[in-house]
Amino acid sequence: MSTVFYDGRALINGQRVNAVNEQTFDCLSPVDGRLLTTVSRCAQADVDAAVAAARSAFEDKRWCGMAPAARKRVMIQFADQLLAHADELALMETLDMGKPIKYSRAVDVKSAANCIRWYGEAVDKIYDQIAPTASTALALITREPMGVVGVIVPWNYPMIMAAWKIAPALAAGNSVVLKPSEKSPLTALRLAELALEAGIPPGVFNVVPGFGPEAGSPLALHMDVDCIAFTGSTRVGKQIHVMAGQSNLKRAWTELGGKSPNIVFADCPDLDIAVEAAVGSIFFNQGESCNAPSRLFVEASIQEQFLEKAVALAPKFMPANPLDPATIMGAIVDKTQMDSVLRYVESGKSEGASLLHGGAQALTESGGYYVQPTIFAGVKPEMTICREEIFGPVLSVLSFTDAAEVVRQANASVYGLQAAVWTRDINKAHGVARALKAGTVHINQYDEDDITVPFGGFKQSGVGRDKSLHAFDKYTETKTTWIRIDSPV
Ligand code: NAD
Repeated sequence: MSTVFYDGRALINGQRVNAVNEQTFDCLSPVDGRLLTTVSRCAQADVDAAVAAARSAFEDKRWCGMAPAARKRVMIQFADQLLAHADELALMETLDMGKPIKYSRAVDVKSAANCIRWYGEAVDKIYDQIAPTASTALALITREPMGVVGVIVPWNYPMIMAAWKIAPALAAGNSVVLKPSEKSPLTALRLAELALEAGIPPGVFNVVPGFGPEAGSPLALHMDVDCIAFTGSTRVGKQIHVMAGQSNLKRAWTELGGKSPNIVFADCPDLDIAVEAAVGSIFFNQGESCNAPSRLFVEASIQEQFLEKAVALAPKFMPANPLDPATIMGAIVDKTQMDSVLRYVESGKSEGASLLHGGAQALTESGGYYVQPTIFAGVKPEMTICREEIFGPVLSVLSFTDAAEVVRQANASVYGLQAAVWTRDINKAHGVARALKAGTVHINQYDEDDITVPFGGFKQSGVGRDKSLHAFDKYTETKTTWIRIDSPV
């Protein structure tokens, strides 16, 4: 593999800069453990500088004051820049967080570019409203950008998670300060450079890499940040809402964890498709997906057949070198996360679940962090692997006999991000879908996704929705303007 060097310095007001305190941290690749670069370890002073730059860009209207058609053109140019640098971004993402290069290229870069383009396209197609009031007055309902939006994202889909927030925030005319995860900071920095090259003015999109308590908290607590948009764990998400409330009551939006139930009835339309979806979706992205269907409920009468097929399919997902274009499961993001996944595997074993496949570290000789695709059967609702988000390639399979009971168990979670139901019976499908407490429910499939639909959770899976036109609501304030009409006629 050729030696690569990435610029890990913060990007503030259009300039690459070191952290004020000159501190850095090492950015290691989970592919083989090697050092990729050192990255600015931003803290309060850097966040202050980034927020000041964002505020100044907002106040002098260098972005929000642009005609919508012009802002649209720049956003589309920004999306095109991602595609023009697709190979570079895909390699960076794979080296930084370990996902297969095949998906970095075909999913992450494309999806992030598509998101930016979609919100760019929307900029000059959204109209304000006039309220149906008495004829003696006119009430205009308009939407205004909030000002400075702080964005904090996790490491599992670094580019996509950033795009879901920065694209609607920028399209609405805000300035942004983005704090990427300390585990995968590189593509965020590169995105901000590409935004500059596309014509987004300096100061409008700033990136402050660093650790959560050092760089994330100052952003969430900042008195001059109007909105904080967070994706990450429920534990930190709760702190974000507290920080927003403790400071200036900034708008706080959170996309948090999940433990999604996937319910397969005996009359599912096609068992092979159901098995492929169940197995493929939990092992996609090494299981590091908030919406992974990690709790699989299979009706008892088809359980044996289902498990046989699932176990037969699992070896296809054995991890391999993420840089090989044929690889479909790559490395876990770092040693800490790998150890955490392996601890969950141990808890599954010690609490009495049956390990049907995997359960161990893989490719130890690589120097990277890999876990075998793991399937547990005989899982009970009270087991830790059934209750807690593992965020790794571990599938917990439970069996059921009664529809009402399986819905009760599926909903017995603090999370409510996504769910699925498989059945030929249209009444059962709709009845169960309605009863499931989840932001997205799939019927007879698991992986449909589109920028046009909202994404987010019920319960402790978060507050607000990413994607679709709904996301504009998060980054705009609604204003009512009353005008008296003294008509002479
Ligand atoms: P995390 O909560 O540990 O970190 C997320 C981000 O918050 C990181 O940038 C981190 O540096 C920052 N952070 C940590 N502590 C902070 C603090 N005290 N103040 C401010 N910022 C802080 O989550 P993670 O491990 O990076 O990501 C995994 C989690 O993200 C999982 O729970 C997963 O389900 C969730 N996730 C949710 C969605 C969704 O759309 N619902 C999407 C992807 C990931």
